[in-house]
Amino acid sequence: MADKDNLHAFFYPDSVAVIGASAHEGKVGHTVVSNMLKAGYSGRLFPVNPSADEILGLKVVKSIPELPRGLDLAIIAVPRKFVLPSLAELADIGARSCIVITAGFKEVGKEGFFLERDMAELCRKRGMAMLGPNCLGMINAAHGVNASFSAGQPMPGQIAFFSQSGALCVAILDWALGQDIGFSKFVSLGNKAVLDEADMLGYLDRDPETRVILGYIENVEHGKGFLDRAAAASPNKPVIMIKSGTTAAGAKAASSHTGAIAGSDQAYTAAFRKTGVIRVPDVESLFNLAQAFAEQPLPRGPNLAIVTNSGGPGILAADACERSRLQMAVFGLATVNKLQEFLPPYAALYNPVDIIGDAGAERYRKTLKAVAEDDQVHSMLVLLTPTGSAEIEATAQAVIDVAKKSPKPIFACFMGQERVGPGRKMLLAAGVPCYCFPEPAIESIESMYSYFLWRNRPKPVYPEIRRDRDRADEVLAEARAANRREIVEFQAQRVLEAYNLPTPRTALARTSDEAAAAAGKIGFPVVLKIASPDISHKSDVGGVKVGLKDPEEVREAFWDITTRAQRQKQDAFIAGCLVQEMAPPGCKEIIIGFKRDEQFGPLIMFGLGGIYVEVLKDIAFRLAPLSGADAFEIVREIKSYMLLKGVRGEPPVNFKAIENIILTMSALAMDFPDLYEAEFNPVLVNHERAVVADVRMTLNV
Ligand code: ADP
Ligand code: MG
Repeated sequence: MADKDNLHAFFYPDSVAVIGASAHEGKVGHTVVSNMLKAGYSGRLFPVNPSADEILGLKVVKSIPELPRGLDLAIIAVPRKFVLPSLAELADIGARSCIVITAGFKEVGKEGFFLERDMAELCRKRGMAMLGPNCLGMINAAHGVNASFSAGQPMPGQIAFFSQSGALCVAILDWALGQDIGFSKFVSLGNKAVLDEADMLGYLDRDPETRVILGYIENVEHGKGFLDRAAAASPNKPVIMIKSGTTAAGAKAASSHTGAIAGSDQAYTAAFRKTGVIRVPDVESLFNLAQAFAEQPLPRGPNLAIVTNSGGPGILAADACERSRLQMAVFGLATVNKLQEFLPPYAALYNPVDIIGDAGAERYRKTLKAVAEDDQVHSMLVLLTPTGSAEIEATAQAVIDVAKKSPKPIFACFMGQERVGPGRKMLLAAGVPCYCFPEPAIESIESMYSYFLWRNRPKPVYPEIRRDRDRADEVLAEARAANRREIVEFQAQRVLEAYNLPTPRTALARTSDEAAAAAGKIGFPVVLKIASPDISHKSDVGGVKVGLKDPEEVREAFWDITTRAQRQKQDAFIAGCLVQEMAPPGCKEIIIGFKRDEQFGPLIMFGLGGIYVEVLKDIAFRLAPLSGADAFEIVREIKSYMLLKGVRGEPPVNFKAIENIILTMSALAMDFPDLYEAEFNPVLVNHERAVVADVRMTLNV
């Protein structure tokens, strides 16, 4: 991570050198110089080239040592083999930051990988911020800096954008020009050898010219830095991101269901959620949201009012609203009375307010004003279909006027293209987001409302979990000493005890007689399970028998289980059987687990258990440590929540007990950094209690 002042020199350079500047049009080293000039750069600009005298009217500097000391920014566009020597020379003159545009490093193979590593090391050691290599460059339009080889000049604006893909940068620049979208900072990260998304978040968080931060990332390589910076930035300004590509990070073979299901994509989603980053699926939503967040105030509640001049689109919008976290506002009587005064008799006075196809601009203006003044309304959506009598531009103006005076967010949806075009342009220019269809408008409002809720959420509380860490560590230490990765149920029982987790009464029996005696003490019916350090998935070898009703059945089951297991796993050491209290009928099976994500740490999973878990994938994730609110929400997030709540007169399960086990799992994951995964599967739960009826844990290799 580079230091703060160097980043400032990077974004606001007073002196810039282009290493490998060229007099030949079409060369990157030429485009960069030309872009700096076109952007209106007012600082000192030095093209560097050993064999040219003048480039685009600028006097050429022959070599790096001839540049002024303490240069703010060097843009490097020389062939690969000259990059490292150039960096060393730049460090010698005390250059503060650089952009390596040149490609052919980590992305092409081993040789490039090591070269890039050397470059990064040099920059870190000498305190020089480096963007790239293999990137398009950086643009700070308001400051007249276009340190890139982009084809166009973006306008200044309030949206910052950084991207790991240079190609996407090119496309977005071109698209933004067509949409009149401007940028405060535009950064192509390239290979991220030194500067990465965490540095950008850290800087942009404090950048007064940036209101919204957008990012496109493919992978995060410093998870902790990312989480910290994202968590710090999100409360100040919205951070909206696209994450593409799923890496095969789960290279280690998973030995639990959790491991098999929890991939890196879920970890990203959980990381975004934990830090308040808004994740979007595509570039279109990215910019829809960016505009909305940059221009409109946040809705302070869920209630949306829709004003429309046609029925169908109004219903579409209302449907989309119902599917979202938003609600259709119910107007106060005063509002309805007011509307009745000037709307035609067949207008619909209730939400959505249909002011009918012959509505002109004034009718829109009056309606919007009345609705905006209603306390029950938190946000508004204005729909216009280009009917014969629609006054498109005048209506746009009316919306703009109301929006200017209202502290509530207003969004427009002018449906169509050709005729509504000019009105839409006016709205966008005035900062009223305008969409072609209702659904994306609703999505934007919903996102803003969710962000409002997130920002105003109560401070997370992390309940204290009573536990004896040292006692649990004895079990892990035994496994470590024996070089065993897997810790199976009969061994992990002590860990459950040390963490005060509720379990069915359980005893280890070495003989069938011991088993029968233990069952007598526990009380029938009981469950018998194979107890072997070498058998992790017990049912797979016929190692579990439930519902054993008397001593005879227990004895028989003991023989059956142990001989079968030994036959199937001949070199397995068999300690005997666990005799376990049988959970009462009607219990529901749930699964609580975690897997340590390489970047973001323990990813806690909750879901309905049983044999269908991997098919239905009805599961929810959070990054540890979980707060009380996280535990509360995660159990309510899965679709099967309705089943847990009870159907047809069943009482709801004991949610508090489940949440407690989830929080304990989170503590376990945080306590033992060398635990790679752990799983309670199943936890059996009814309206009274929840018991952990099976556990397996895996240590890191
Ligand atoms: P494994 O996952 O190693 O095959 P489990 O201990 O999870 O073994 O047992 C398999 C299944 O048996 C569980 O998923 C559950 O349906 C049932 N079961 C296990 N223990 C109990 C118990 N104490 N009470 C009721 N059912 C149980
Ligand atoms: Mg199990």
